[in-house]
Amino acid sequence: MPKVLVADKINEKGVEVLEGSAEIVNNPKITPEELLKTIDQYDGIIVRSRTKMTKEVIENAKNLKIIARAGVGVDNIDVQAATDHGILVVNAPQSTSITVAEHAMGLMLSLSRKIAIADASVKAGKWEKSKFMGMELRNKTLGVIGMGRIGSQVVKRAKAFEMDVIVYDPYITEDVAKELGVEITTLDYLVENADVMTIHVPLTPETKGLISKPELTKMKDHAILLNCARGGIINEADLYEVLKERPELKAGLDVYENEPLENSPLVTLDNVVLTPHIAASTKEAQRDAAIIVAKEVKEVING
Ligand code: NAD
Repeated sequence: MPKVLVADKINEKGVEVLEGSAEIVNNPKITPEELLKTIDQYDGIIVRSRTKMTKEVIENAKNLKIIARAGVGVDNIDVQAATDHGILVVNAPQSTSITVAEHAMGLMLSLSRKIAIADASVKAGKWEKSKFMGMELRNKTLGVIGMGRIGSQVVKRAKAFEMDVIVYDPYITEDVAKELGVEITTLDYLVENADVMTIHVPLTPETKGLISKPELTKMKDHAILLNCARGGIINEADLYEVLKERPELKAGLDVYENEPLENSPLVTLDNVVLTPHIAASTKEAQRDAAIIVAKEVKEVING
């Protein structure tokens, strides 16, 4: 029977998928030395982010057919080395789409209704009703930058809030836009017309600093900017400057240029809501990731 190493803690539903078709070795505390020594015994390995599949480990993996990352980022896997050795690398980017979209909606509501800051105020023993006048989302324009898996899920949810949606994504077709009931625009138009702007593009040389001083300056007075994608897509120094000057403008961030966020002046502002890169962190997303990759492992190890 093929042998699969589960090298990081994954949801048990993923392990269940493999039961009966592989000998499963659960060793979520395996050390790098132990991994290097024993990897040649395995046909498949499932990791999350802790286990590092380095070139050295991969070179020792004589029987390995597949490396599965039960999640999205594969920064802990030397994908080139795996490819050179004919080992398939799989991940589950679709597992977190709804979870991240829900987090974006959470940040949106937290800012439109000033929930986070009102919560802090009540907990400080105050009752400042008039300070927390909000903005309804109904009939407001949501600008979505990047209409992929996550962007589309945000659109679905925004439509339920009766928002109008405009999209900037040079890589989607008019047909897809029509299907989703959204209008494709330029980045300039989106920045100037969105009441809420949400970013769902990958960080690439093209998207680094996509939202900087010129874009931030053009945003509507009361606009909300959200980033649940990657730090660096918004220029953080520019964002701080603009938010400090314009207290009615708001931002909700889950990701930062440097993580963990340390010594950032953003934490001193009332018009931001910050979360520690948790947009993808739900039990459901982790369960789905484990199931998706376990199915792929099962298929590959059984030929
Ligand atoms: P996806 O690949 O399905 O969608 C990305 C979209 O961005 C595509 O439609 C693409 O055409 C578009 N795009 C690419 N370059 C662009 C550009 N220069 N301008 C405008 N649009 C552009 O990806 P996804 O699954 O929706 O994820 C989006 C991003 O969210 C990921 O790249 C990742 O960085 C981030 N993410 C963050 C978390 C988190 O924990 N905060 C979790 C998952 C994903």
